[in-house]
Amino acid sequence: MIDKIIPYGRQNITQEDINVVIAALQSNYLTQGPKILEFEKAFAEYVGSTYAVAVSNGTAALHLCALALDVKDGDKVITTPITFAASANCVRYCGGEVVFSDIDPDTYLLDIEKVKALLEASPKGTYKGIIPVDFAGRAVDLEAYRKLADQYGLWIIEDACHAPGGFFVDSYAESHNCGNSSFADLAIFSFHPVKHITCGEGGMVTTNDEVLYKKLLALRTHGITKNESEYTNSVNFANGLDTENSIYPAWYMEMQTLGFNYRLTDFQAALGTSQLQRADEGLVKRREIAAIYNEALREKSFIKGQSGVVEGHAYHLYVIEIEDRLGLYNYLRENNIFAQIHYIPCHLMPYYKQFGWAAGDMPNAEAYYKRCISLPMYPSLSDEEQQFVINKINEFFNK
Ligand SMILES: *Cc1c(COP(=O)(O)O)cnc(C)c1O
Repeated sequence: MIDKIIPYGRQNITQEDINVVIAALQSNYLTQGPKILEFEKAFAEYVGSTYAVAVSNGTAALHLCALALDVKDGDKVITTPITFAASANCVRYCGGEVVFSDIDPDTYLLDIEKVKALLEASPKGTYKGIIPVDFAGRAVDLEAYRKLADQYGLWIIEDACHAPGGFFVDSYAESHNCGNSSFADLAIFSFHPVKHITCGEGGMVTTNDEVLYKKLLALRTHGITKNESEYTNSVNFANGLDTENSIYPAWYMEMQTLGFNYRLTDFQAALGTSQLQRADEGLVKRREIAAIYNEALREKSFIKGQSGVVEGHAYHLYVIEIEDRLGLYNYLRENNIFAQIHYIPCHLMPYYKQFGWAAGDMPNAEAYYKRCISLPMYPSLSDEEQQFVINKINEFFNK
């Protein structure tokens, strides 16, 4: 018998993580210090992007992306209903309109054929962008999305919160890490404790586009620049002098756009860099856990899992679909196994229903929601704990 609660996901904090956070707390910088750039560089290298911008959380990352891409009132943006609400909400923060499009019932990802049909049904220019999500850790085929986006002049934000270390293989047999931005304009990650690596709260935007990168940096800090070459006010004004002067004073800065304070602290960044060292190790463990679940559950005809090619799957979640989902959920809970449901379809959240979305609009997502359940999946899940979970699932079905 296992006494402690087994959640669906949890963080893994080592003594080394604790040490680097203490060191950061004892340093001169609690925020806006050197740990941020260190984390950004390490993360960009990890996913294979040119730039990375650390922010306070994944939702802030999405908001900054929408701002950097200039989402405005009424702009239509396509995303999946099977995601965390923030993937859609970022469009609303900027006054844009969220257009949900249904999932593929086998991969649980935004169905590109449905997106294609949506785009074909309206004149070019109707839609501005697409936000595909690497749901559960399974990488979206962004090469295909890029082709489609280019045809219609759309941008792409990849929501890669579930997939650091995940990848897909393109038509040239080249593999692309989630967030490497070779096809998406921008990609975002979250460092909430249930995600692969954590900062407590934290997020990252990755991109290969220098112009977007600079916009993100400014937007993260109130729209303020300290880069002289960008100043538009005169040197005289900056110095507070009427007489000629050729040098901007050291205190000077300009707020040029309306930004936010979406910074990460240095001690969080230190934790992020430390966690990142173990990201690959964690990923190996996640894939091992998935393989054990596959072996134990897949041949059971009453269980359906995410199917098709799963190379490069980062296994943020291990989702199965079953008929008596509520029954299994309750049975597991009675046994201290806190499985979770990902996700309640976004378009049926009361907030989105006010825009006209209704039951029946996304048949695949809605059918999936009735049956899905995410089993415990995190690197520190022990073999014994996983076997306990599997035994309880078997017990439930043998009752
Ligand atoms: C966690 C998550 C977010 C939001 O990240 P926060 O750091 O919690 O703000 C966005 N999208 C997806 C798919 C997520 O899983």
